Amino acid sequence: MSMDRPRFIVDSMLGDLARWLRLLGYDTLYYRNAPDPRLVTVALEQGRIIVTRDKGLSILARKKGARVIMLRGENIEEMLAELHLRAGVALYADPGRSRCPLCNSPLRHVPKHEVKDRVPPEVYVRYEDFWLCPKCGQVYWQGSHWRKIRETLEKAREIADRLAEARQRRGSAAATSSHHRIRIEGKAPHPLGGEAGGEG
Ligand SMILES: [Zn+2]
Repeated sequence: MSMDRPRFIVDSMLGDLARWLRLLGYDTLYYRNAPDPRLVTVALEQGRIIVTRDKGLSILARKKGARVIMLRGENIEEMLAELHLRAGVALYADPGRSRCPLCNSPLRHVPKHEVKDRVPPEVYVRYEDFWLCPKCGQVYWQGSHWRKIRETLEKAREIADRLAEARQRRGSAAATSSHHRIRIEGKAPHPLGGEAGGEG
């Protein structure tokens, strides 16, 4: 896996997931209405990983040689956990590197006075740190919803740990049930990429 942060293009059914990936700082494209072939073309042109739950899109993408992650998760926590394991998505939010959930531009930390006329007065009094999207003008701060964000990410990390353990167990079961006369020396290979996440 490349050390660069992966860039994504998310299928039109997964708008919530696109906003989460941007919040986590990943360059993520999302179109409300784009035919599958167009998504695949953009992914190939820009070196983006397609993220989808749609089998048809997944098959088309593979056929065209695009990298695709087919998600099985039913909710945001499960989908983020899968992306952590399969693309090294870090499950920690740091607004210093977030992108605008609405338009994907990197946010800029701005001096408080710059947003004075753009946020409700009670918010202005209560918070010190503000981030501005230079493209769409949206202002962000770590309001009460931030606790919910942390909880969601914590849950996603727990699910990722469980999935990794399950894969490890499946991996060693497959190794011991092998009929080949190959003796496995030492430990089984480390599953997946290990701890690809973290704040790094
Ligand atoms: Zn924006």
